[in-house]
This record gives sequence, structure tokens and C-alpha cells, in this order.
Amino acid sequence: MIDAIRQLEKTAKQLHTNHSTRAHWNKLVNEAADQFLGTIENTNAYHMEAFQGQFEIPENPVPPEQILKTYQEKVLQHGINAASGKHFGYIPGGGLFSSALADYLAAMSNCYVGIAYACPGAVKMENDCLRWICNMVGYPETALGNLASGGSIATLTAITTAREARGIKARDFDRQVIYLSQQTHHCLHKALRIAGLGEAILRQIPMDDRFKIKTDALEAQIKKDVQAGLEPFLIVGSVGTTDTGAIDPLEAMADLAEAYNLWFHVDAAYGGFFLLLDEIKAANKAISRSDSITIDPHKSLFIPYGLGAVVIKDVKAQYQAHFYKANYMQDSFQENIEISPSDLSPELTKHFRALRMWLPLQLYGLQPFRAALKEKLLLCRYFYQKIQDVGFSVGPFPELSVMIFRYEASSDSNTFNRELLEMVHKDGRVFLSSTQIKGVFWIRMAILSFRTHLKEVDLCLSILEGSKNRLLSKSYS
Ligand SMILES: *Cc1c(COP(=O)(O)O)cnc(C)c1O
Repeated sequence: MIDAIRQLEKTAKQLHTNHSTRAHWNKLVNEAADQFLGTIENTNAYHMEAFQGQFEIPENPVPPEQILKTYQEKVLQHGINAASGKHFGYIPGGGLFSSALADYLAAMSNCYVGIAYACPGAVKMENDCLRWICNMVGYPETALGNLASGGSIATLTAITTAREARGIKARDFDRQVIYLSQQTHHCLHKALRIAGLGEAILRQIPMDDRFKIKTDALEAQIKKDVQAGLEPFLIVGSVGTTDTGAIDPLEAMADLAEAYNLWFHVDAAYGGFFLLLDEIKAANKAISRSDSITIDPHKSLFIPYGLGAVVIKDVKAQYQAHFYKANYMQDSFQENIEISPSDLSPELTKHFRALRMWLPLQLYGLQPFRAALKEKLLLCRYFYQKIQDVGFSVGPFPELSVMIFRYEASSDSNTFNRELLEMVHKDGRVFLSSTQIKGVFWIRMAILSFRTHLKEVDLCLSILEGSKNRLLSKSYS
């Protein structure tokens, strides 16, 4: 048996990479990163061709050069280049290179961050990152939260906490009323359904002409529901809706939440870190009156995908909704140490996500983040003006860095704008996405990548103007 073990050990030991191999692989990966980031200003933001091919799992090693070639050809050269500063679709963020180094360190050392005693430093780092967010939004010391993989899972944690905090049982689900708007992100609907609340009553509150919830309509609806013997449970406001970057009237919503004893959740997945800017913070102080907030570092903090945070004002409620004591976890119960992330979310084992947020903030300090966010606000206002100068009509003035616009054609404008966007996608240098509001097709401009500057916005403007003119001459020739 010893012989067999020794024999197996020889092969198994390949998994512990030695110094010279590490150096070689590091060098190759560094070169690939240089190639990608060194040319990113000139590479397209979108590759429209359909993906073909598959990924095989081999019995024997494949040379690293070949692996990187496969990665480049099969992964990087298809779809949206989300690292590009010319990506203006959905909610871009760019993805800081320094977070990649943090991921490298985190994965290399494989710190276990589910339970505080397993790696107290990493857990403290996660909780301190969350405390920093809590401080930014004006939450008290009773607040904490969780670093999840994204805004959707963060929202699920908030909804589950709200449900448990209100003591809502399955038999009560169909009497619970939830207030949101047509512009509320679909992850709320998903979270409600996954949290068992699919039978709850949803009230889509009318919006004003800037796509914000009308609070008089909201109050009238709550009153009606109370009279009907229903149980108003949850109200959802947004700091930066996905379609237009609108901010709901938080102060008035907080008043109603208090008056009628509703859980107040704020979806700041996109817009949250704009609160680092004094003027945005001053205008939205009432966010501190909410009960829970979703805020995505992988959006307005420019971290690569895989990091969405939830913060909850009463961490006890979050703990009550998520903790678990299992026999095989008995070593992990210790008094007076940080609350374990696994007691605050559905996850047990997870990636050491705090490092990818904390490390860039150390390397750069906050100032370049503030500058980049302020720059995005101004770039969006600039685009709002310039796109009108070349004949497009626009939606509401951007409060943050997302706005909608379209060309009013003499023919069917929805078709015209759809064709226009298709032309832009075929060109590929920039990428924009679209939306439909009340049957009207709008093109969206979302400026959030830290790699987006005046040059990229000007390029986008000239492509849109050129495509519009070509389409116009085509339809009249
Ligand atoms: C992106 C986004 C979400 C969902 O977050 P994910 O990180 O994509 O899961 C929710 N709400 C808003 C407003 C968003 O922009």
C-alpha cells in the first residue's frame, strides 16, 4: 500500500506548483493582461458574431500558451467587452485591475471567510468594509450586512430578513402588500418569489414624469389596503433606477414607512456609491431612514463582477433570519468575536470578497473614486446636451449617470431606433443597450466605467450621429 501511495503522490504533487512554474505562469498571465489592458482603448466594446465552440476537460495537461489562446479567442472575442470604457450598456463598471490582484492573493491563500474564527482578519475586513458603507449611508452602529456575489443575492438577504423581522408566516403571505414601481429592478421580484412571497400582493405605484414614485398615490394605496384588512409589509425605493437613473423620493417614502410600519428597502445597487459625493449625499440623507439597502461595489465602485453588498440597519434581524447552529460547526461558537458572514447570508463557504474591495481602496485612496464618479455625472450631463444638439430627443435630465434618448423619426420611431441601435452594435466600437417604457423604445446611455472619459463619450456621439444620418438617407433614398 505504501508503494501505491508513493506512486500516487508523485502525480498528485503536480497540483502544488513549484517556484519556477509559478514564475513562468505568472509571466504569461501578466503578458496576457498587458496585451488586453494595453490595447483596450482601441479594441471594440462589442463583438456581435454568435459564439461557436466548446470547452473540453482534458485527461492530460494543455500548454499554458494554448490555454491563454483559447481564453482570448473563445472568451474575450465575443459579446460585450465589459472592461472597455466604450461600454455604455446596462450598468458598466469597468473592473479595477487591482481587484484582480486581490482575487489572486485571496485565492492563492484560500482564506476561509464564512466563519470568524477560521480567519478573523478576513472576516473583520469584510465587516469593516460593510461598516464603512453603513457609515456612508448614515446607518447606526447596530447595522451590518453582507458581501454577496451581486445585488440580486444581496436583495434576497434583505427580503428574507424583512420577512423574518415581521414574523410573517406562510399562512400570511397572500395578505402581505408590497409597494414598488414599474421601474423597480426585476431582482426584487425574483427575491420575493425565492423568499416564498410570490403570493404577496404587488402594488405598482404610479410614477411622475421623471419616473419617480408618486408618494401621494403611494399613501392612498396603503390606506386603501389597510381598510381592506390587508397587511402593508414592504416598500421599495431606488437610488438610481436601471432605466433612467431616477432616485425615488426617499424622505416622503421614509415618512410613510414609519407612519404605517412598513419595512423600507432601498435599491442602490447602481447608484449607491455616488453617495461618496457630498452633493448627492446631502440630497439623499433620508436613505439613512431605510431598513435595508442593496449597494453594488461591482457597479459604482468599479470592482470587477462578483461583489454586491447588502446593509441592514438592525443586524440582529439579519442574524435571526440567517444563523444556523449545526453539530459539525460546534467549534465555531465563540463569544465576543465578529459576527460570521455565514450567519448573515445564505452562504457558508465563499470567496474572500472583501479583499477585492479593500485592496483597491488602499492602493488609490478615496479621492480618485470621488473624481471618477463626479466625472461620470458631468459626462452624462454633457451627453444629455450634445445628443440633443444632433437632433435626438431625451428623457428626464440625468440625476446620476444614466439617461434615455431616441430619435423621433417621421416614420415608426420605435423601429427607427431599433435599427439605429443595431447599426451601432454591428459597428461594435461602442456598446449601448435599450429599454422600453410604456411601449416607447428608448436607447440608454449608462456612463459608469472608470475607463470612460470625454474621448469615449465623443466617439459615442459621433457614431450615433453618423448612424442616424445614414439611416435617414437610407429610408429616404
Ligand atoms: C444591477 C442592478 C441590480 C441587480 O444587481 P446584480 O448585481 O446584477 O445582481 C438591482 N438593482 C439595480 C438598480 C441594478 O442596477
